[in-house]
This record gives sequence, structure tokens and C-alpha cells, in this order.
Amino acid sequence: MTESPAARHASTQADFAANLASIRARIAAAEAKAGRAAGSVRLLPVTKTVPAERLRLAIAAGVHWLGENKVQEAWEKSQALADLPQLKYSVIGHLQTNKAKYVARFADEFQALDNLRQAQALERRLEIEDRTLEVFIQVNTSSEESKFGLEPGQAPEFLRQLQGFERLQVKGLMTLAVFSPQQELVRACFRKLVAVREELRQLNLGSVEELSMGMSGDFELAIAEGATVVRVGQGLFGARALPDSHYWPGFAG
Ligand SMILES: *Cc1c(COP(=O)(O)O)cnc(C)c1O
Repeated sequence: MTESPAARHASTQADFAANLASIRARIAAAEAKAGRAAGSVRLLPVTKTVPAERLRLAIAAGVHWLGENKVQEAWEKSQALADLPQLKYSVIGHLQTNKAKYVARFADEFQALDNLRQAQALERRLEIEDRTLEVFIQVNTSSEESKFGLEPGQAPEFLRQLQGFERLQVKGLMTLAVFSPQQELVRACFRKLVAVREELRQLNLGSVEELSMGMSGDFELAIAEGATVVRVGQGLFGARALPDSHYWPGFAG
């Protein structure tokens, strides 16, 4: 991604409504510019580090999907906001197998699936909860060792292995682009994800159409390249106090 332009710190419902309207307008403009249908890109608000009480204002302003990087934080918010049954939770960060039980309880979507043990743990826990989960396979498109996700070449075999998992509904692919001010490097990551989807389509193993790519700093570029889900945090909620290295191991920025 390129530099993350954070919105001003939003602290009232009106601030949140304004930030939301502004991001939605930029998404609509990017869709139009790319010749894509209006509404073809879903905005996933990324709410990590935003406390539950502040989130209530954002929810009142129209947010109902919460994207969270860490399971523990997401789980705590789902408890604190349990009186709002319309909320949906997307876990977008690395999952340790021993936390699969939490995801199985409350998450509607998991975007960082990248190994078989994780899939097995989720399947077993989802059976216990009698739930299903929409999942995205995370692909490492930046060749950075510090990033989670499968190598692009491993995705077809992984998708085949997932066929036996009845509780996991594979929706598509997710990636984090390289952290670089050079647009062409960022664009290359997005193109790689599109190419992986193309390869998976040839396998005819169900629909893996969704592409979750693009964040506050690069979502317009991602939409130009075909994103169907963009994950926007700081552009909606303002700058985070915690450094990104807290969420992305190895990231020094
Ligand atoms: C935090 C995060 C985002 C959003 O980043 P912003 O710069 O706040 O838009 C997107 N994807 C993942 C996996 C994240 O952890």
C-alpha cells in the first residue's frame, strides 16, 4: 500500500457519517472510472483499536460490518456490542489454531485462511456451534517473508484440499499489497491476486470470485484492478495510535 491517508479523528455520529459518505463517494468514483457497476465493491470498515463505545457512533452512522485483525479484540467487541444483533464480524488477521473456537462462535467471515490445520480447527469448531463461515484464502502477493498467506502457486492445491470442508464457504481471495510509495509495485500485487483467481477459475471448484484487496492508502488502485471488497480503517476512523507492526509482523513503518 501507499501512505495511509487517515481521516480526521471522528468523535461524533456526524463525523462518522461524513467520513463514511466521503469513502463511499470515492469508491463510487473509482467504480465508475474503472467502468465497473455501481455497488460492485463492498466497503469493509476496519474497526481495530476503535473502542466499542466509539463504535456505537459509527454504527449509528451506518456501519454494520466490523473488520477486526485480532480475534481477541473482535470477540471482546462482539460481547460489548451484543445488544446490536444486526452487526456482522469479519476477522481479517492471522488466526492461531487455538483461537478457532472464538471465530466459530461469532464471526461471519474470515479473510486470512492460509493453512490446512486452521481449516480443520475451524471446521471442527463450526460443527460444534452448528454454524458456517464464509472464508477468503489469503495470498502473499508481495513475496515478503514477514507476511502471512499462501504463495500464489500453492493456492490451487489448497483450494482442492478445502473441498471436503462443509462448514467453510470459500468466497474468494485476500491480500495485503506491498508497503511502498511506488504505485507500480502495489499494482503488481493486486494483479497477482487477479491472476491467482483466474487460475482457480480453471479448476471449477465453486465460486471464488471475491477479491479483498485495498486499504485506506490504496483502495482506489485496488478497485481499478478489480477489488470486490476494500478494507478501510484509518480513512474512516482516523489514525491509529498503535503502530502497524502490532498487526503485521515484520512491518517496520
Ligand atoms: C488494519 C488493516 C486494514 C486497514 O488498514 P487502514 O490503513 O486502516 O485502512 C486492512 N487490512 C488488514 C488485514 C488490516 O489489518
